[in-house]
Amino acid sequence: MRIAKFSIAGEVRFGLVDGPELVVFKGHPLFSGYETTGERVSLKDVQLLPPTLPTSKVVCIGKNYADHAAEMGGEAPKEPLIFLKPTTSLIGNGETIVLPAISERVDHEGELAIVIGDVAKNVSEADALDFVWGFTIANDVTARDIQDRDGQWTRAKGFDTFCPLGPWIETEFEVDGQTLETRVDGELRQHASVDLLIHKVPRIIAHVSEAMTLLPGDVILTGTPAGIGRIESGQVVEISIEGIGTLTNTVA
Ligand code: MG
Repeated sequence: MRIAKFSIAGEVRFGLVDGPELVVFKGHPLFSGYETTGERVSLKDVQLLPPTLPTSKVVCIGKNYADHAAEMGGEAPKEPLIFLKPTTSLIGNGETIVLPAISERVDHEGELAIVIGDVAKNVSEADALDFVWGFTIANDVTARDIQDRDGQWTRAKGFDTFCPLGPWIETEFEVDGQTLETRVDGELRQHASVDLLIHKVPRIIAHVSEAMTLLPGDVILTGTPAGIGRIESGQVVEISIEGIGTLTNTVA
């Protein structure tokens, strides 16, 4: 099932993606179930929003593909390396990534994102997938020069619009055997199997929930493969994961 969050005529709603249309849910599907109003709207008539609500935090995993750790000039960490992006960095499919004037080098990082569906604290790897609502696609946009300057990553990865998320949540996604691709103006920049995640999804959830309580709607970005690169004003970034779809954003 593909679940989208969208705005239409000033109202925020959730809908079931059915081909080129959305079937509108009565309420928030995570809390009030999958009953629909029967109303259908065209996907092209709505603005898609980051497909979570509420989101108390966006947790990110750093250097979780060996080839990306190598291109950053280091080794992959033995434990999942955690950092946070503020919720004010979230934007939806079709919205614009705004380059901050104080950075001269902003990069894309295409990533598989986990959406949490239930309160998770100290969960085991064996139980971890029971706490997943679904999966979506994220861009962990990064001001690389500021990341290098600060040492800490919060500012470099925390600018407004630096967390495109969407286009929707796929609740039946199977991680195994899927491919992630990032294109900038149609040019292929990243191409990797998500099987190459060093720390797998259950391990990530167990590890994060050991430190902090995960709440419904929280998002975990699982890390980016090799091929990160600069994005510039006027470009279009497309991140695709087989079985989910394509997240498209422009840069300005
Ligand atoms: Mg990243």
